[in-house]
Amino acid sequence: MRWGDMRRSENVEDRGGPSGRGGMPLGGGMKIGGGTLVVLIILSLVFGINPLQFLGMAGPETGAPPPPAPQTTAPGSPAPGAPAPADARKDFSARVVGDTEDVWNALFKAMGIDRYPPTTLTLYRGAVRSGCGTASSAAGPFYCPADQRVYLDTAFFDELSRRFGAPGDFAQAYVIAHEVGHHVQNVTGTMQKFERDAQRLDGRARNALSIRLELQADCYAGVWGHFAQRRNLLEPGDLEEGLRAAAAVGDDTIMKRTQGYVVPDAMNHGSAEQRMRWFRAGLKSGDPRTCDTFGVAQP
Ligand SMILES: [Zn+2]
Repeated sequence: MRWGDMRRSENVEDRGGPSGRGGMPLGGGMKIGGGTLVVLIILSLVFGINPLQFLGMAGPETGAPPPPAPQTTAPGSPAPGAPAPADARKDFSARVVGDTEDVWNALFKAMGIDRYPPTTLTLYRGAVRSGCGTASSAAGPFYCPADQRVYLDTAFFDELSRRFGAPGDFAQAYVIAHEVGHHVQNVTGTMQKFERDAQRLDGRARNALSIRLELQADCYAGVWGHFAQRRNLLEPGDLEEGLRAAAAVGDDTIMKRTQGYVVPDAMNHGSAEQRMRWFRAGLKSGDPRTCDTFGVAQP
């Protein structure tokens, strides 16, 4: 991917630092807002994560391994003299975010919406406090509708490569574009409708609905990829990287807070086949209207 040619977004905040997982206490502290169904969409990267921990309601987990040491596979493999990997990652992320801003700005204009309100990407290491509670790196990348931010532990890029066998810069960009897709759902009202509808459903039906939400974000990531491709920002092998990543995270996890407890059956996000298919649909069309995962009988 020729990400060096993409515009760097200002909307990236680095809360990194060498804090590791001990950087922020995870126990207690968080109050669950009453009544409102808050939906956290995350890509689950570590199987066996304790959802309570993600919500900041349990003590630090002991079962999961610590996050990998930083700075192993920075995007773009900076040459000697290039910025340190942490900076390279921030630069990479900022350029991908910037490119999604350009694409969604144009798409919103085409849809007659005045302006695309950009999301902010928060990079962190170890743990982070978000508008949706405290998250540990084990939670994986997620979008918080309450503060309209995307959260990404930079160690995730290593995870994607090492643990999920989906290396490559476009694989990383796909994940960012997927989370930006959730932001698009949020600012267009899809997420609010989803939350309203989901509240009325039982666990199984709610789960099926959440899969549609996830697959639409995959499709939106594909829509971004379509325009990246059209502007010759992709290189041979990039699309395969993206598809591999879409398949690799087929087990991603959604977590919901409903009056202070986690709905455990809301943890299925569609199969690898579904995720690749919808990513491909957006990639092919470049048109968000083809991402109507809620309108089809079987997504
Ligand atoms: Zn998602």
